[in-house]
Amino acid sequence: MQDFAAVCRARFPGSISDERFVRASTAAAAKLGFEPAATIACVGLCRDELTRDLRDRIQRTWGEAFDFSGLAGMLFLGRTGFMAAHAHAPVVGGRERYAYFALPHIAIDADGIIGRCTRTGRPGPSTACGALAAFLVELSGNRLRLTTDPLDLEQTRLQQRLAEVLSHGQTPTLAEATECAERLIRDDLQRMIELTLDPGVADCVAFTGIQIHGPDGGYVRPGACWAVIEGETRPFDLADWVGPSALA
Ligand SMILES: [Zn+2]
Repeated sequence: MQDFAAVCRARFPGSISDERFVRASTAAAAKLGFEPAATIACVGLCRDELTRDLRDRIQRTWGEAFDFSGLAGMLFLGRTGFMAAHAHAPVVGGRERYAYFALPHIAIDADGIIGRCTRTGRPGPSTACGALAAFLVELSGNRLRLTTDPLDLEQTRLQQRLAEVLSHGQTPTLAEATECAERLIRDDLQRMIELTLDPGVADCVAFTGIQIHGPDGGYVRPGACWAVIEGETRPFDLADWVGPSALA
């Protein structure tokens, strides 16, 4: 039977502990001119309480963060939410600075089963991300809801976005759906930065990837990272800021 580390290494290569992710992202941000005291952190993770460890770790470095969270980590707060966060940023040297962290999540249990986790006080196995798993159940059962339900806004919007980018007739695995959510979140973040960041007064740095819940702690597979400084977009690779993988 495959165990957590083997499956994580094979399916999400480059994964590192969440502690190393925060340390590397903090170092990369500092090199680009983003110091925690002069920057507001904006954290978009799934609403699942399992994501709390990473949020807390980010906040221990960056201070209280504006909450960007939505089901599956999707950025459903819209222009108004982004602009509210920006209006809370410190102004240092006449400029505002924003650090975005935006990641979907997935569990892998001790036996290496993708999507499975345990929850304190609850018997039997549980699933993460539950929102993505619910999407896959509807999709595979040919009963996917694609109209906006005001009583299920986030889930129906998530399903619309995923359906837009999946090939017709394709039912992805949970890992594939998570990577699909990662790309949607990255694209949405880029779009919202274009719409809401005023390069005349503000700079930002963005970190994406996938949050992974392991049996012994949290991990992150880093994804696209970039900064926008005085209007110029500068992509960078977080791997340059990380030592050898803890899972290597
Ligand atoms: Zn979730």
